[in-house]
Amino acid sequence: MRYGYQRMYINGQWVDAHGGNTIEVFDPALGSVIATVPQGGEEDIEHAVQAARHCFDSGAWPGRPERERERVLLDIARIIRRERDVLASIEVADSGKPLADALADIDEAAFIFEYYGGWITKLSGEIPPVGPLAMSLVVKEPVGVAGCIVPWNYPFLMAAQKIAPALAAGCTCVLKPAEQTPLTALELPKYLEEAHVPPGAVNIVTGYGEEAGEALVKHPGVDMVSFTGSLTVGRHIQETAARHIKRVTLELGGKSPNIVFADADLDAAVDKACYGVFWNQGEVCSAASRVFVQEPLYQEFVNRVKESLDSVRLGHGANPATTMGPLVSHEQQERVMGHVQAAYADGARCVAKGSLPADPALSQGFFVEPMVFTDVNPSMRIMREEIFGPVMAIMPFQSESEAVALANDTPYGLAAALWTSDIKRALAVARKLRAGTVWINDSQPAPSEAPWGGYKQSGNGRELGRLGLEEFLETKHIYINLDRGE
Ligand code: NAD
Repeated sequence: MRYGYQRMYINGQWVDAHGGNTIEVFDPALGSVIATVPQGGEEDIEHAVQAARHCFDSGAWPGRPERERERVLLDIARIIRRERDVLASIEVADSGKPLADALADIDEAAFIFEYYGGWITKLSGEIPPVGPLAMSLVVKEPVGVAGCIVPWNYPFLMAAQKIAPALAAGCTCVLKPAEQTPLTALELPKYLEEAHVPPGAVNIVTGYGEEAGEALVKHPGVDMVSFTGSLTVGRHIQETAARHIKRVTLELGGKSPNIVFADADLDAAVDKACYGVFWNQGEVCSAASRVFVQEPLYQEFVNRVKESLDSVRLGHGANPATTMGPLVSHEQQERVMGHVQAAYADGARCVAKGSLPADPALSQGFFVEPMVFTDVNPSMRIMREEIFGPVMAIMPFQSESEAVALANDTPYGLAAALWTSDIKRALAVARKLRAGTVWINDSQPAPSEAPWGGYKQSGNGRELGRLGLEEFLETKHIYINLDRGE
């Protein structure tokens, strides 16, 4: 499928980049160009921020009654559900993910608009007690213009995770999609117009991070930055935003642990350990890529994981038989294979698969086989660095305290999984793990009603759930003097 040239969307208009340059977009399973998009830069960001600013400052979006704004978000959700097949097929071609995963992303994105739409008419403030001669009203207000920057692994879902709470809070925004995967975000403006979102409320500028992304973060007209991406870029964004004391929420990388105790349900633990590393080709911030297995179970667990890899089918995401698609780009394929070479150099042993696929039908795409390494130790790069590809490392442990220490031995703290049939142990270990999400007898669920975000260097702030909405809200205290001098 070819999608041709797609314009970006500023102030309710489809526009080209000021400089006239474009970026090629690839189908990563075929290695071929499927679309081009504008290479937005500083002037385009200026235009987009001005539009968002005007829409916010004039009250065109935040000034609309709550129940009207709720209706708009519910309408967007309805349109996304109507267009789910179109959106999912674009997402497959753009990101490489299997169709079933793309459909699940689109459905969740629709739900996120419903979920945050519902909050609009339920948000209220507080009246704290301040004595008989005064009254304090604590009210919630939108932060203003939000700069939203997303990565390529969940292009439409991440865009929804930022735009829906921003609109629900009454903010306006400028979204910069990842340069590798801008296509589904560019479908959104048609739905926004159909749902009567005013011009300027949502602007989408395609472009590179160092150019369009950087200009968005630096712009003094942007009140907050909501960023999902790598630790390196997140750190840079926080430093840049500090100049204007902008609010910054950061959803960054991870190196999540998965602890399997000897009393775990082995079938489920093996199944979800594989899912936890190999779903979405391992391009998942919460991928539970460090698996710690209690000693009596260790060898059997490794054997069972190896066996389960036989059912993995690499291929184009549009093929219903495909269970694992390609990585997003040639650069990502090289990056992952670089981590694999480092694992070999450090003395780790690959016990399952372990290279680029031999099938000539896959040779033009950016595929890598799923891989499992053993004979690892916590100082090896495979145990410390985020790989963002389908690479699992398995290591034995003896005691509960050793497992907790190993799990926490990382600068990241996004998520952690643990498997046991002892509920007291499960809860005790869950409290000791330094991670924003802990899964007990599961791996990877991230329901949009619950908060998502990291401890330590996995980020700041939370996305999703009520807390995700509050990131886009300011708190105002209004004090009323009621003293009548009596
Ligand atoms: P990345 O940091 O390279 O890019 C993310 C986005 O930032 C892209 O849109 C990019 O264009 C933009 N960007 C790059 N440089 C910029 C700059 N100087 N200023 C402003 N914007 C800039 O990350 P990626 O490779 O696209 O995505 C993978 C990373 O995202 C992984 O580390 C992964 O763990 C993380 N991630 C985290 C979560 C989470 O919820 N915590 C979810 C998905 C992905």
